[in-house]
Amino acid sequence: MPTKQSWRNHYQLFNTVENQELMTKHHHLSEIEQALINNELTLYYQPKVNMLTEEVFGAEALIRWIHPTKGLIPPVEFLPTIDGTELEIKIGDWVANQAIKQMDSWLKQGIKLEVSINISSLHLQSKNFIERLGLSLAKYPNVNSEYLQLEILESSALGDLQMVSQIIKTCQQVLGVNIALDDFGTGYSSLTHLRSLSANTIKIDQSFIRDMLDDPNDFTILDGIIGLADSFGLKVIAEGVESTEHGLMLLMTGCHYAQGYSISKPIPASEFSLWLSHYQANKSRITCGNKKRTRKENKIKLFRLIANQWKKQFSENLLSAPEKAKYWPLMRSSQCHCGYWIKREMQDELFAKDNLLKLSKEHDICHDVALALLKRYSAGEIELAREGLPQLLFAFDELDAALELCL
Ligand code: C2E
Ligand code: MG
Ligand code: MG
Repeated sequence: MPTKQSWRNHYQLFNTVENQELMTKHHHLSEIEQALINNELTLYYQPKVNMLTEEVFGAEALIRWIHPTKGLIPPVEFLPTIDGTELEIKIGDWVANQAIKQMDSWLKQGIKLEVSINISSLHLQSKNFIERLGLSLAKYPNVNSEYLQLEILESSALGDLQMVSQIIKTCQQVLGVNIALDDFGTGYSSLTHLRSLSANTIKIDQSFIRDMLDDPNDFTILDGIIGLADSFGLKVIAEGVESTEHGLMLLMTGCHYAQGYSISKPIPASEFSLWLSHYQANKSRITCGNKKRTRKENKIKLFRLIANQWKKQFSENLLSAPEKAKYWPLMRSSQCHCGYWIKREMQDELFAKDNLLKLSKEHDICHDVALALLKRYSAGEIELAREGLPQLLFAFDELDAALELCL
């Protein structure tokens, strides 16, 4: 049994630890406040592209702290400290003002972009938020408020949904700004938010995009979100588009707007116009986006993309040393992307059943061959496994031939 004295010591210890944490937080807060005063905070801009035309139609403003000794500090390292404080609102207002000022400056250079800013839940619900944003907009009368977008974190505890919904409506009706639900799909109540909040745009969270080429579940969610957005008449943009293949898959699924490292990382405002003047359309995306395809052709192109992705990932692994091999693609034919594709189409009437059965058979053969190679590789017979690679490529050629027959 602990004595009274030991409890007291324990309590005091706890108290000092708590005090220490509080003091550190206060110290950080005043450092960040000082950074705001010293003009050490800045906004970077990440381009948003219409993949059908490759037009850069907008940019997202993302805060950075350029520390005099530590260099660039990303938002995840200082925004959590100001979470729930007055400083969060102060910095939020600064971001809004700065972004509108930037829009005005770009307009003077003939650059018209939709600029989005991230608005925290506390900032959105702070007293006189709409009035303050209105004043910032009024300072730059050349800026059309329709080109300003507020990104609201879908996953954040939005608080009183009715109140948030009202603020959003007033922002749209009185100020004319538009609203995007950020990181869509990560919240507990995405569907409720979709129903109650009159957003104009949905930003699909990057976690779904990152894995959609390999994970059929993520792709199914993505496909569902795009369909849902379509039914609600909302614009949908994908964030975290890291490769051309991601872009192509999105195009084929019906999402035409994208933001991500494959287009550009966030860039300082001063470098943005230079980047814009050098921007070159991605040839694969533009070819894919421009081509008119029937529903059938579109689905076939999607199958080819996911089959190629699987083949590439498997072959690369087989050719690397075991310690360097990345994770293997889904090895069971019913669970991989193509397996899901076949299952889905079997329930539909679009393709002839006989052709689908032939495709399914060739697909199973690809998996059987790959599984045999993987077994050898895992048993240490690496060279022998690699020698079997042409057999796998042949099986994939047969799969492609079966796919052609589906057209
Ligand atoms: P977010 O609003 O979802 O912004 C997208 C984040 O993903 C940015 O990180 C961006 O740099 C990063 N990103 C973009 N494309 C890719 C990609 O292809 N791959 C990967 N792995 N990442 C990509 P960043 O700038 O570090 O910002 C992180 C988060 O901090 C933002 O997420 C946003 O929630 C918050 N944030 C940033 N600036 C502000 C701000 O001014 N105000 C508020 N309230 N929050 C902000
Ligand atoms: Mg955002
Ligand atoms: Mg986001």
